[in-house]
Amino acid sequence: MDKQFDLVVIGAGPGGYIAAIRAAQLGMNVACVEYEPALGGTCLRVGCIPSKALLEASHLYHKAKHELTQFGIDVGKVALNLPAMMKKKSDIVGQLTGGIAGLFKKNKVTHVKGKGRIEAPGLVVVELTAGGTQELTTKNIVIATGSTVARLPGVELDGDRIGTSTEALSYNEVPGHLVVIGAGVIGLELGSVWQRLGAKVTVVEYFDRILPGMDTELGTLSRKILEKQGLVFKLGARVKSAVRGDKGCKVEIEGSDPISCDRVLLAVGRVPYTDGLGLEKVGVALGKRGDVVVNDHFQTSVPGIYAIGDVIRGAMLAHKAEEEGVACAEYIATGYGHVDYDSIPSVVYTHPEIASVGKSEEQLKEAKIEYKKGWFPFSANGRAKALGSTEGRVKVLADAKTDRVLGVHIVGPAAGDLIAEAAVAMAFGASAEDIARASHAHPSLSEAVKQAALGVGSGATQI
Ligand code: FAD
Ligand code: NAD
Repeated sequence: MDKQFDLVVIGAGPGGYIAAIRAAQLGMNVACVEYEPALGGTCLRVGCIPSKALLEASHLYHKAKHELTQFGIDVGKVALNLPAMMKKKSDIVGQLTGGIAGLFKKNKVTHVKGKGRIEAPGLVVVELTAGGTQELTTKNIVIATGSTVARLPGVELDGDRIGTSTEALSYNEVPGHLVVIGAGVIGLELGSVWQRLGAKVTVVEYFDRILPGMDTELGTLSRKILEKQGLVFKLGARVKSAVRGDKGCKVEIEGSDPISCDRVLLAVGRVPYTDGLGLEKVGVALGKRGDVVVNDHFQTSVPGIYAIGDVIRGAMLAHKAEEEGVACAEYIATGYGHVDYDSIPSVVYTHPEIASVGKSEEQLKEAKIEYKKGWFPFSANGRAKALGSTEGRVKVLADAKTDRVLGVHIVGPAAGDLIAEAAVAMAFGASAEDIARASHAHPSLSEAVKQAALGVGSGATQI
């Protein structure tokens, strides 16, 4: 193996593997160090992909059980085969992680299997999985080591009954009662999975609302929809402890009665992961959250060492990490590289989905930006009616003077796909009228976006 590289990337998640491939496409000799047997990072192994596989499967189960008869389809007794559902999830993960190994081969990225640490600028030492160490000399290093789960004092994780999203992606039975700590993205997605499969799910949240940080109006709408589905929210509640006893678990909450349950899922956020990287030794500066501090070009405080993805500031999202991977590789190769942070969407894959891009109404008010608002309900959209999924709405926020789109918020069927149009529009600096005047296929869910954009101006034509 050639041990002199142009670039060594540490971590093969969506940030690292994309940076490695892009750098190789740009002509660099690249190695990517990863200690997990499968490539793809948190996202592919224990994050985005397995959670979406279970969300899709549990939604189909729920639909077959409760919704198909309204379409004139009688299916008889519907039964859950949890091991088969878990196998389908693992198969999907296996295909995708294997796909990255193929992409590395195709792009001639050298995969070094082991745990990397930075010994000095230009020198990465790998504790090889197969035993022994290997030194990789390189012109540049990209840290893409991602994040790990945030702990809560008093919550005793046991890797089984009291666990994190990783355990909740692989329970071997449907819990009678699951308590989720945190009404953020993981809490709502995995809470939905197990609620659909038959568990009683109580979500305990510190703030008095779910999804803190998202547009309040659509956050409240989402809460009502999820409550109707059976999720129980205990808001404004601070968890003091969660412990395992002989007959299950007990969650203690400040100022209210403890909750007894079968399992606990801790989902109070994630923190940057830099353990064992040797950053202090080489002088790479860390921020208050333990994040690697970078400038606009992903350069750390040490020349030749860059960082991207969950390990740096900003939203912990796979597509944000990917954008940074591309921009960082391009910056190293060409001196230019840019990420448009204002048009990065975020999606919660509940049913209906919750998606947003740009500013919320609260953020616009706080920044004293005058805006106009248009909205459209899915109950007035023909395709949503045919799908039997009419809950939710699209909201478009645009600058009061220029009509430039500043934010789009969608609760509704396929919101995660519909938001792409809004993200592209924002990336191109589009006005609400630009979206409203573009032809949208009929009948399609995307017409709801067009109608909401029309609502910003002279008015929607279909309500
Ligand atoms: P990671 O994916 O965490 O990858 C870092 C890699 O570095 C890991 O493979 C790790 O093993 C490796 N590593 C660490 N240290 C070393 C070392 N010293 N040597 C070698 N290798 C090392 N985001 C979305 O956008 N959409 C979703 O639907 C979504 N769903 C999620 C669901 C769950 C349950 C979770 C937990 C997260 C989800 N996320 C989602 C977030 C997403 O997974 C992360 O934002 C994304 O994986 C970050 O990519 P990354 O490359 O920065 O880090
Ligand atoms: P999060 O930040 O989305 O939510 C954590 C929630 O826990 C917040 O609502 C917070 O107020 C609450 N909380 C914090 N301390 C608490 C306490 N003591 N008691 C009760 N509640 C408390 O974090 P997450 O859901 O753990 O997700 C982690 C990361 O993974 C997020 O950054 C997210 O972007 C990413 N993720 C993304 C997706 C997606 O894009 N669909 C899916 C899953 C995870």
